[in-house]
Amino acid sequence: MACMTPPPIARQHLPALLAAMPKAELHMHIEGSLEPEMIFALAQRNGVALPYASVDALRAAYAFTDLQSFLNIYYAGASVLLTEQDFHDMAWAYLQRAAADHVVRAEIFFDPQTHTARGVPMATVINGLARACDAAHEQLGVSAALILCFLRHLSEDEALATLAEALPYRQHFIGVGLDSSEVGHPPEKFSRVFAQARAHGLHVVAHAGEEGPPDYIWQALDVLHAERIDHGVQATRDAALMQRLARERIPLTVCPLSNQKLQVFPDLRQHPLKALLDAGLCATVNSDDPAYFGGYVGDNLQAVFAASDMDANHAWQLAANSFEASFAPEADKAVWRAQLADCFTQVARELPGS
Ligand SMILES: [Zn+2]
Repeated sequence: MACMTPPPIARQHLPALLAAMPKAELHMHIEGSLEPEMIFALAQRNGVALPYASVDALRAAYAFTDLQSFLNIYYAGASVLLTEQDFHDMAWAYLQRAAADHVVRAEIFFDPQTHTARGVPMATVINGLARACDAAHEQLGVSAALILCFLRHLSEDEALATLAEALPYRQHFIGVGLDSSEVGHPPEKFSRVFAQARAHGLHVVAHAGEEGPPDYIWQALDVLHAERIDHGVQATRDAALMQRLARERIPLTVCPLSNQKLQVFPDLRQHPLKALLDAGLCATVNSDDPAYFGGYVGDNLQAVFAASDMDANHAWQLAANSFEASFAPEADKAVWRAQLADCFTQVARELPGS
């Protein structure tokens, strides 16, 4: 299993190690991977008018101050997605970036309500994304799966209708999640739809404790029965919760550059990732909305390590945790753990001073 000790690796080789090590990405919203260039290309292809004059003007608008100001631009960007090919192309672009970061497993969030509300059929969304996931497995060697997220600023009845609409495509997604504006929309608002999803054998995860209080994390665990907590960084404010998360090995999908950009932790030197790992939590590093927050998973790892004194043992823990936390088959996890061990051995052997 993952209990082996990694070989010692000198600090100056951390950037190379972080880049090369195999990893799973478990918290990435596919609509948040839309780069300004692709938004403009899709707008042109579909004849959609954008309220920005150029790629640079759109990129300049990415000066968010909090979650809501980000979400306003995020939903505007998603308006260019109309056809199955658009959803495929968006996911394929992300999966190529992920493969370049040595992501071997991607569990990808998508927000169907953002699209069905605009008249895009559920089948268009799911079939386009699923086709890219299949192609990633065949052509990139990346195992990819989809998680359907409910928008929490909308009602539970709308979430129930969305789940019913998606169930004919059940074979194309492995779970459900909860995202969008957190504060004022506690997990308990969605207890019935999460119970239904679990009854259909779907995995369940939820955003909690990003901007919201530790109580939202308790609710996600006890009311929604979430198997993973997305973000969860506010757990550090609640000692009893930290103990429970560590004891039960409930994974947290942490997103450092997102936390920085949305002012949750404006200075990465104050980020609690190392504290979470050292407290024995199954924390992982992910990119959240990489096009909007300044980087993909590799960039997140580089930035958070550069701002702390975490070492190669922390890198090992993060990669091993990402496999443990994923919903992939155990046989795949065993392969990736062996690849992780090989990667550390190779870096230790090839780079001087290790
Ligand atoms: Zn997120």
